[in-house]
Amino acid sequence: MTTLEERAWKTPPWESLRAGPGFRLADVDRASTPGWHGSKKDAEELLAHLGSEMSELQERLFARGRKGDQRSVLLVLQGLDTAGKGGIARHVIGMVDPQGVVIRNFGPPSLEEREHHFLWRIHRALPGAGRIGVFDRSHYEDVLVVRVEGLVPEATWQARYAEINGFEEDVVAGGTTIIKCALMVSHEEQGARLLERLDRPEKHWKYNPNDLPTRLRWDDYQEAYQAVFDRTSTPEAPWYVIPANHKWYARLAVAELLTEALRRMSLEWPPADFNVDAERAKLAATMVTPSRRSVQAEDEDLEHAELAGIDVPAEGGPPAVPSQKANGKGKGKDGNGKKRP
Ligand code: ATP
Repeated sequence: MTTLEERAWKTPPWESLRAGPGFRLADVDRASTPGWHGSKKDAEELLAHLGSEMSELQERLFARGRKGDQRSVLLVLQGLDTAGKGGIARHVIGMVDPQGVVIRNFGPPSLEEREHHFLWRIHRALPGAGRIGVFDRSHYEDVLVVRVEGLVPEATWQARYAEINGFEEDVVAGGTTIIKCALMVSHEEQGARLLERLDRPEKHWKYNPNDLPTRLRWDDYQEAYQAVFDRTSTPEAPWYVIPANHKWYARLAVAELLTEALRRMSLEWPPADFNVDAERAKLAATMVTPSRRSVQAEDEDLEHAELAGIDVPAEGGPPAVPSQKANGKGKGKDGNGKKRP
């Protein structure tokens, strides 16, 4: 953890937000910011910092995936309409290289999907090696909307909790870290957000008249969510319940959970599977100036020097700091991709 993280989180989100035994959704104040003792400004600063850490860790995960490491990460986002799932995809996941991320949205099953087991479409959408998968809604809709709307007989949806647990256990055993986040807004806040969508023409596209019938069944959905937390928050794939009235808090919390999961994967850069010195010698033989550094490396040094507040000589001169790249660390981060404080 960095200094700001340590100072501002009294209890880290992976402890304060985890739905453990005895968890009661009704007791969650949706406007609260559990564990966080910093300001909104601190949160924004930390989010930006986590963005660069996450970005490097994601690149390491991706690089390892290319070299045979089978591991991946799956972020499951659940929440009622307006809870902010889209904002998480844009503001948190948007901070990492899109080439390493696969985002899937799950709406009502298609005709083809309905002909299969409810986990069929989920299985097909799991992230491959080295990827971060994001599910905007998920297989949990099959015990949420399906339960509330009575779309299948009760015996069918009742059996699904155990099926989901078994499925997730297999997915985790296959090398995927699952992070399940439920974004929870208050009834009042949802009303205000829906109204805003009606008031602002640029938000009309986000408004769906079908959201109102769902809102009318608020209590049923709360009960269905409680059952999800009671029955599917497992040691392998726990639920994190995130109060989401404050968007800045929800985004920070998800960024922390994702970053921490990546940190725990010990993602060293994959070792070269070729002889580096032999390749260097062969490359040098093709160059007029064998030790010439790339313009890109020089630009990066200038960038790091500027970030560190060090005066940079004008036009082409070397910065007054030793190259981070040259001492093998890169981007001012330690071996685990964390920015040095
Ligand atoms: P969102 O409401 O998530 O922003 P959207 O408005 O673009 O998304 P879709 O993604 O097309 O709409 O569909 C979301 C809707 O699909 C939700 O109302 C959700 O409850 C419903 N849904 C998702 N999975 C299922 C399922 N397995 N069975 C029935 N309905 C489902």
